Amino acid sequence: MKSAAELDERWVRNHQAAQVRLDLKELAFEYLGGKCRVCGYNRCLSAIDFHHRDPREKDFTISTKMSWEMIVKELDKCVAVCATCHREVHAGLHPQLLELEVEDPWY
Ligand SMILES: [Zn+2]
Ligand SMILES: [Zn+2]
Repeated sequence: MKSAAELDERWVRNHQAAQVRLDLKELAFEYLGGKCRVCGYNRCLSAIDFHHRDPREKDFTISTKMSWEMIVKELDKCVAVCATCHREVHAGLHPQLLELEVEDPWY
């Protein structure tokens, strides 16, 4: 049996990790322009995904184990899109977001 204090401490640590991940996600989102690349949505961070532009790579999920440098390296190959547009990207509606080499037409 874990004591209440131990469990409490574990909760606090988990909670802090979750907060750090959220902060990192916010930073990452700002880094990628602070809005959905397709529709401009920016109301709710948890509805934002980081879509990897190389279809052979998995989409990017922020981990608190990564350094910011590692995160930025991955972010450079990703676009921030909202959940709805992300589904559309994977359905093939936004082929321009699936090209790594294409000059960014949005900036
Ligand atoms: Zn969108
Ligand atoms: Zn994706």
